[in-house]
Amino acid sequence: MDCEPKNRFIPERIGTLPRAEALAGGRDVGNKGVGRPATLDRTARSRRIEDPLGRLTIMTSLFAGIQDAPLDPIMRLFEAFNADTSTKKLNLVVGVYTDADGKVPRLRAVQTAEKRWIEKGLPKTYRPIEGTKPFRDAVQALLFGAGAPILTQNRTATLQSIGGTGALKTGADVLARLNPGATVAVSNPSWENHKALFSQAGFTVVDYPYFSAETGGVDYPAMRAYLQDLPKGSIVVLHACCHNPTGADLTPDAWSDLAPLLAERGLIPFLDIAYQGFGDGLDADAAPVRLFAESGQEFFVASSFSKSFSLYGERVGALTIVAENPAMKTKVESLAKRLVRASYSNPVTHGAAIVEMVLTDPELRADWERELAEMRERIRSMRVRMADSLQQRHPERGFDAIKAQKGMFSYTGLTPAEATRLREEHEVYALETGRICVAAVNTHNIDHVVDAIDAVVKG
Ligand code: PMP
Repeated sequence: MDCEPKNRFIPERIGTLPRAEALAGGRDVGNKGVGRPATLDRTARSRRIEDPLGRLTIMTSLFAGIQDAPLDPIMRLFEAFNADTSTKKLNLVVGVYTDADGKVPRLRAVQTAEKRWIEKGLPKTYRPIEGTKPFRDAVQALLFGAGAPILTQNRTATLQSIGGTGALKTGADVLARLNPGATVAVSNPSWENHKALFSQAGFTVVDYPYFSAETGGVDYPAMRAYLQDLPKGSIVVLHACCHNPTGADLTPDAWSDLAPLLAERGLIPFLDIAYQGFGDGLDADAAPVRLFAESGQEFFVASSFSKSFSLYGERVGALTIVAENPAMKTKVESLAKRLVRASYSNPVTHGAAIVEMVLTDPELRADWERELAEMRERIRSMRVRMADSLQQRHPERGFDAIKAQKGMFSYTGLTPAEATRLREEHEVYALETGRICVAAVNTHNIDHVVDAIDAVVKG
């Protein structure tokens, strides 16, 4: 999304003129006036205001030069969904996990932690810029595994962030200081916000080949060939697991090949792990992060707890930066903290206190892991049912790839025209790219989804 005004407003364009001059379109009034209306941008909308002395002030809005940008496709469809009055309508657009009854769950461990937190009656003071130590330690253990060698090497800095998005943003700001003007490569396709976020931080963003429509999986040879030609110092954004939007992940072999390749080529890995626990499990999903840790190279990780704790609006995440040695870790940590201080000052208290309590209390932790596994298994069972049923009806369309894909989303292979018909004729809202949120499918709506897809594919 491009929010930069293309036609930058110059404050001097506001001016006060004798009426005749103002009506004549203005001229440079030197020190008589308070500005230079002669340079008034005529493409911008302006207003004329007359004061009691009959002088005219020509006002040009500060905001007139801002380019109108269309809403991103997800928000556009979400609005259309809200406006739809049908009782059969089904939202497979937004990336939110809903349970077997179609509700956004309040996780058991989260509810208990919240109760305990409130009972403690603690004051809501500021948190440290980087978050509390138990929170940061728990995040690192989640990423690298409890007792991992890297945890005792003191070369890893973690900062609590405003969701996964905030982790990516702070990481981007740090990188912009270190490698200004670098290229950032994101997968084609990727989560919409990756591009916007890194270009807003001043980078040139390019796509690396990723998804193969033919196989419904990753075209790793094409991805590899592209990455190895990137200039040294480029940043490579990787989805550690549960790729959004396709659901197609790299194989363990591909990860093992990729880590040394990036190190050799002097590329900077930035792993985005927004769905840890939704693929194959907490440890299995973090395997790529652990592989990079073992490789010894420097890299960035953005964690999100929005989905795994069902705490979307609480905005809990973490940025982890792995440095070559403790001295470099201290340097980068201090830079990141300075940038945070001048950005939002301190992270949130409530959501992070809850995540911290769940991750550090053995009983709550075990219950959270159980419930996360239930969510993962529920999505998986929907994948299998959908894939089997659609594959049987349309063997030529490769619907069985849905089964191999992981996490909350799937690229179904539906064409934009089919996705439109799905919405218009069956009230099933999916993105035009064919992406659906499998985490919103349940036993009550699955037959409707499958029949609708079947009908649009039949044509
Ligand atoms: N990365 C990816 C790949 C995502 O899909 C999302 C959320 N949709 C995020 C980051 C951001 O997560 P959060 O909502 O915690 O900011």
